[in-house]
Amino acid sequence: MTRRIAIVSGKGGVGKTTTVTNLASVIPLFGKSVIAVDANFTAPNLGLHLGAPINTIHFHHVLREQAEVFDAIHSHPIGFHYIPAGLSLDDIKQVDLDSYLTAIDDITHFYDVMLLDCAPGLGSDAMVGIASATEMLVVVNPEWTSITDAMKTIKFAEEIGVPSTGVILNRKRNETIEPLNDHIETFLDAPILAEIPEDRNVRKGVAYCKPVVHKRPNSRASLVYRKLAANLLGHNYMPRPTWKEKLKEIWHNMRDVY
Ligand code: ADP
Ligand code: MG
Repeated sequence: MTRRIAIVSGKGGVGKTTTVTNLASVIPLFGKSVIAVDANFTAPNLGLHLGAPINTIHFHHVLREQAEVFDAIHSHPIGFHYIPAGLSLDDIKQVDLDSYLTAIDDITHFYDVMLLDCAPGLGSDAMVGIASATEMLVVVNPEWTSITDAMKTIKFAEEIGVPSTGVILNRKRNETIEPLNDHIETFLDAPILAEIPEDRNVRKGVAYCKPVVHKRPNSRASLVYRKLAANLLGHNYMPRPTWKEKLKEIWHNMRDVY
């Protein structure tokens, strides 16, 4: 059965789309087919993260019945499919959420994993995104504002029967002011599956429209994304970078600093 995983958050800007693009890039390494769908209809940016052409068939065309969902599927050179959404104000004004559910159903069985890049918070598009999923990954930053907002999302999902597989703690800096992991897990009543470090390479990846796992596969964040994908798919992943790769990484980091 296809796993439809909603990537959600309470607050915006915490790293949902970054999580989606990087997971979509590494899941095929474990033999699974994957499609990433922009389900954030009011502030979509999956296409921007992936360098989708601006004048292309996108999800809003499908939602307005101007295109078939299969025509909005883009093939990324890394080896996964994705559906970007429209960027204009006119696009976001006319969203029929019933068409969203039909479109998602039509493509589901072609993939092992579907990653739904949801809207933050609990507006109607966020709720429909969660309701269309079989499970949910919650992205938070190490700040109580982001964590308390995430709790409402988790409670809503619980009420409608969508389980939270776990939490992705993104942009961790290991500063003393950050909440302790134990406290986060207790508060959200969900396990932290991955701690993605604050990593300049992630921002570089977004700037160059290339997920960091592709642009800098040996960066700290890339390693965690591969481990997370392996964990989600029930694989053991014990990366052993060669000396050459380690030296290359050190050289890149030094070049970033100076
Ligand atoms: P959301 O989809 O939740 O709105 P994004 O994935 O678009 O958030 O991320 C917002 C910004 O944060 C992006 O510009 C991205 O470069 C940056 N970012 C995300 N994760 C990290 C990280 N681990 N380290 C550094 N920057 C990050
Ligand atoms: Mg986003």
